Amino acid sequence: MQKPRNTSNDHSSREAWLRAATNELRPYFAKLGLAIPEAIRFSIAFTSQGKKSKVAGEVWPASATDDGHCELIVRADFADPLDVLGILAHQLTHAALPPEAKHGKLFRDAALRLGLEGQMRNALPGAALRERLNELAGALGPLPHARLNFDRVTLSGIEVADRPKKQTTRMLKAECLAKGCGYTVRVAARWLADLGAPHCPRHGSMTTPPLPHDVEASGDTSSDLKNQAAE
Ligand SMILES: [Zn+2]
Ligand SMILES: [Zn+2]
Repeated sequence: MQKPRNTSNDHSSREAWLRAATNELRPYFAKLGLAIPEAIRFSIAFTSQGKKSKVAGEVWPASATDDGHCELIVRADFADPLDVLGILAHQLTHAALPPEAKHGKLFRDAALRLGLEGQMRNALPGAALRERLNELAGALGPLPHARLNFDRVTLSGIEVADRPKKQTTRMLKAECLAKGCGYTVRVAARWLADLGAPHCPRHGSMTTPPLPHDVEASGDTSSDLKNQAAE
């Protein structure tokens, strides 16, 4: 059952929310011998691996910034407070350890003590820690963030200003948007223009980015096929 939101605890920014969460977690980490550094900045943004990476978050060590703050980043397509807190807990474990610990024994020992489970690279809270984080989420109040759907943006052809022109090659990426599929294929712009979208072996017609303006169908025999595939 969800705890009532504590409306006196409204955070106006994602950073404030993550900082408050971290401060709440400090005693728990400390009890297990893990000191979370004081100087941390938080973002919900892209990691250095960009939007294509599966990495859910990352932490940059204090030595990486000019003023000795760690930088902790949670990827912007996570928005569920419990998910975000799970990622935060994983990254705070890194922050409390030397960067060279990576996912080795030191990290593993710490993660298991805290209640993180699974493959260490993707270690996330097990039941007990989830329960603790769920309570924390209730106490923190709403996370002022909504999922950034960068995959949707890419595929719908919406342009983000100030991004370098993509798809400079004539090979365009088509993707199956059926839930849980993720099948992608690269196809020459010429084939898209002539024959329409390629098909996922399981789900049929795939979504393709808009054709570059300078690509046109090479012949009129293709128009029937094209209409068929575009639905
Ligand atoms: Zn990690
Ligand atoms: Zn599919």
